[in-house]
Amino acid sequence: MRKPLIAGNWKMNKTISEAVQVVKDLKNAVDGVTDVEILICPPFTALCAVNNIVKDSNINLGAQDLFWETKGAFTGEISPSMIKDAGCSYVLIGHSERRQYFGETDETVNKKIKAAFLAGLTPVVCIGETLKERENNVTFKVIEKQFKCGLTGIPPEYASLAVVAYEPVWAIGTGKTATPDQAQEVHSFIRKIYGKIYKAAAEKLRILYGGSVNPGNVSELMKKSDIDGGLVGGASLDAETFAKLVKYSK
Ligand code: PEP
Repeated sequence: MRKPLIAGNWKMNKTISEAVQVVKDLKNAVDGVTDVEILICPPFTALCAVNNIVKDSNINLGAQDLFWETKGAFTGEISPSMIKDAGCSYVLIGHSERRQYFGETDETVNKKIKAAFLAGLTPVVCIGETLKERENNVTFKVIEKQFKCGLTGIPPEYASLAVVAYEPVWAIGTGKTATPDQAQEVHSFIRKIYGKIYKAAAEKLRILYGGSVNPGNVSELMKKSDIDGGLVGGASLDAETFAKLVKYSK
């Protein structure tokens, strides 16, 4: 059985003191939850402070990006080992906002995934189509390309550990959610193509849905057989709301 994972992406929000307050409240609100894995991804600047609160708790820590080199003259970048050192066990890779605004490509995504695994971090690899691509009926083609280029050449021992987040770009931060059926259709397609490459690892692969997930729609999404969790932006910024998501009714 795949353990559900509910992950919060705080994006470029919260100062250190704001982050500390939210995570203290969240820790109290989700105390005792063991049937769902919890992950929060604050901005880099708040990682250490948040780690001091969540270490030894049921909340995992992740970064929102990394650079694939181990060290050197790469001004402004953060290495996998720095992220690990800050207390992270996960890292988001290839979020659509990074693809859209910062030139992330399937090739850079691939390098980052490999670097994450080598450093002992679990990558949460984001893929998804734009509204235009969905309207042009090329969703599956886009997903297959992002998936095959992004997730190529992963050593087999890591293949089942990766997490994939299907995030239709038109559903991120817009209040428009894919219907559970629309999401399930893409999730099962992802599992099928993963199985062609990595065989049995596909059954262990956790595939999260992301795009305006909130306490009102999470349960219906989670009923689908290939939806193993959520990647949540806006609704993860408030401790009470995010705790409701983590404790969705099963
Ligand atoms: C996200 O940032 O990955 C996301 C899905 O955002 P939101 O939940 O706000 O749509």
